[in-house]
Amino acid sequence: MNIHIIPCLNDNYSYVVENKKTKNACVIDPSESVPVINFLKKNKLNLKYILNTHHHADHIGGNLELKKEFNSQILGFEKDKNRIPGIDIFLSDKQIWNFEGSDVLVEHVPGHTSGHIFYYFKNEESVFTGDTLFSFGCGRLFEGSYLEMVDSLKKIKLLPTKTKIFCGHEYTINNLKFCMEIDKNNSELKEKYNQINNNIKNKLPSVPSSLGDEMRLNIFLKFDNLEFKKRLGFEDLNEVDFFKKIRDLKDNF
Ligand SMILES: [Zn+2]
Repeated sequence: MNIHIIPCLNDNYSYVVENKKTKNACVIDPSESVPVINFLKKNKLNLKYILNTHHHADHIGGNLELKKEFNSQILGFEKDKNRIPGIDIFLSDKQIWNFEGSDVLVEHVPGHTSGHIFYYFKNEESVFTGDTLFSFGCGRLFEGSYLEMVDSLKKIKLLPTKTKIFCGHEYTINNLKFCMEIDKNNSELKEKYNQINNNIKNKLPSVPSSLGDEMRLNIFLKFDNLEFKKRLGFEDLNEVDFFKKIRDLKDNF
């Protein structure tokens, strides 16, 4: 299978997963229909499914037009069935869904919204994290508690470290600037910043990241790293309070 990055709106990413043999495809989080339709037509792909990570407008905006154009089926979390337009298939936590013979693990990751899920494509070693985990950042908490978000990030951390992370927005440069502000003098962060900055200058996306890089560099995933917390002088904070501290600092960054 091929994974294609489709830039949408100002800074959103939608993703098309294509079975190269059958030319069947699914799309994850179509923010809008036109760029996705153009891509599918140009590549003569048949859009079988539309997968939503959560109900926000910039992730479901293309649902109905794509469904109409390709007669596709729409998938989303069962408890979000009333706020995902055109939903046909209700997914539950820890369900294995199958796309073209490839297993896709669905997990409930509340925090950004109460019904957020991720899609982990096992054979492709790729996870679509929507607005839960960003490259070197994480989503804002609109509907969930800090504890829920920490538990959700823990679920992502349990995936294999080589997993590729495809997130919902191009926020990476700003996220790295924030990581460097908190995790001062981390030379690997500076290298990563230079590398991504070059990509962006050349109009290339920063995605995908890898879970291994995220575990080493993303400060939102370091709530259980005692040595790191000590370095920042936050050794007395438990996991959730540490995460809250970092999230609150980012909200005011
Ligand atoms: Zn969102």
